Amino acid sequence: MGIVKNSLYRVASGAWLRFFKNEPVFGYYHLVRNNKVPHIEHLYAYKNVAQFVADVDFLKANYRATTPAELRDGRAGKNVFLLSFDDGLEEIYSVVFPILKAKNLRAVFFINPNFVDNAESLYKHDISVIIGHLKAQGFNAANMAIVKEILPITFQSNEEFAAKFKQLKFADRDKVKEIAVALGIDMRSYLKQHTPYISKAQIKEMLDAGFWFGGHTMSHPPLGQLSHAAQKAEIQQSVQWLKDHFHIDYSLFAFPFTDKNISRRLIDELLAEDDRLLIFGNSGLRQDVHPRIIQRFSLENPTRETPKVIVAEHLYKIFNKLIGKYHIRRK
Ligand SMILES: [Zn+2]
Repeated sequence: MGIVKNSLYRVASGAWLRFFKNEPVFGYYHLVRNNKVPHIEHLYAYKNVAQFVADVDFLKANYRATTPAELRDGRAGKNVFLLSFDDGLEEIYSVVFPILKAKNLRAVFFINPNFVDNAESLYKHDISVIIGHLKAQGFNAANMAIVKEILPITFQSNEEFAAKFKQLKFADRDKVKEIAVALGIDMRSYLKQHTPYISKAQIKEMLDAGFWFGGHTMSHPPLGQLSHAAQKAEIQQSVQWLKDHFHIDYSLFAFPFTDKNISRRLIDELLAEDDRLLIFGNSGLRQDVHPRIIQRFSLENPTRETPKVIVAEHLYKIFNKLIGKYHIRRK
């Protein structure tokens, strides 16, 4: 959340929700879990089971659950919600799926085929594991010398190092693997031991239960760092992978990291080449360039109350309208 949104959250009251109840809520998460896990711990905070159940109960009591098909066909109506989860983490199967099933709700899961069955890991998750390893050993000089040898970054404090390490360019992601090896961290056995990602069998079980799956690119790159052709391939292959493996007849996709710098040309091509495609972004309550783009906001922050988050998002929408930023412009 930016400075403005933070301030709006602070002044927002959940009681104001009645003014905004006639608006849809497209909230997204990554995982729900009661304890820490190394591959996420140093990236972002998330909700525990009790907090997530409270969110679901609140949404169910105040909004009607909609579906991707209703959204695609423009017949969802206003007072609706649809939850989605990015990155295909194991917890969507072991935690989220049973909770939603018990409440007779469904959700959309956006996955990266490269990580399914724990074949490999998202480089940002490796970064979190490495930071955890370095921290556990007190960021000692020997370890930091190993890191600096491979990745020549300068820093004044361990916090600054962690912040810079997390901002590493996608093109440098092989260096993350190199650092892990040099530090004696075996990511293969980590994947075996923790199984951070869902399996094909789990996807099949969730699809059979009526849940939806969409692409989230093959390898979760920051798309802005790739060429137009590479962006498009990453996106379309991830949607096609689901069709090839599970014979689904719809097309859903969510942008990894951000949809901020996605070009008009890419959006137009994606929608033209697949007339069933529904795209999800994470730019909050803003109007995108096409009705088949659904903008979401995060409900993941465990220190924030969901009714207040929804109110703050609506206040932010009013603010964006005032400063002329409500309509997303794409070059
Ligand atoms: Zn993601």
